Amino acid sequence: MLKILANIGKNLISKPYTSNYPFTPYQHFPGVRADVTFDGTKCILCGLCQRSCPAECILIHKEQEQIEYLNTQCIRCGYCVRVCPTNAISQNEVYTKPSRQRLTVYTKVTNENAPVIKKRMAAEAAKKAAAEKPATAGTGPAKPAGEKKVDEKKTSA
Ligand code: SF4
Ligand code: SF4
Repeated sequence: MLKILANIGKNLISKPYTSNYPFTPYQHFPGVRADVTFDGTKCILCGLCQRSCPAECILIHKEQEQIEYLNTQCIRCGYCVRVCPTNAISQNEVYTKPSRQRLTVYTKVTNENAPVIKKRMAAEAAKKAAAEKPATAGTGPAKPAGEKKVDEKKTSA
């Protein structure tokens, strides 16, 4: 009985454990897992995050070299952060406010080590080299066909 009374007395004079919301602004606990952000300089467009996302809110567009993240569909589980081989995904402590509008975030991937980007850059380099070739080759004598025709005309006349 004495123990109970002591407990009641202690709780009457101690501060409450809960915050006085809405009069006190809500504070996240440190280390809370909230919004997901992508680092386009680290991503290699492997698609692992897309395959592991249970809410299907990551879309990897390899052709456009872009990540599409459906923020309002994300359940903040953190699976994508764990599977990413290049640590290109992180979760910060900021929650996007609830909204009736769908929020989609696009991240441009610029990592030159991404196989898709490497391939594209190699193709572009080959195209450029091919375009420069005739220009340099055209500086030399390249009219034997025309000259021949003139000769033919001369002989036939
Ligand atoms: S945190 Fe979970 S739900 Fe959100 S994008 Fe990552 S895997 Fe998908
Ligand atoms: S964010 Fe990570 S897991 Fe997702 S495609 Fe890029 S490298 Fe792969």
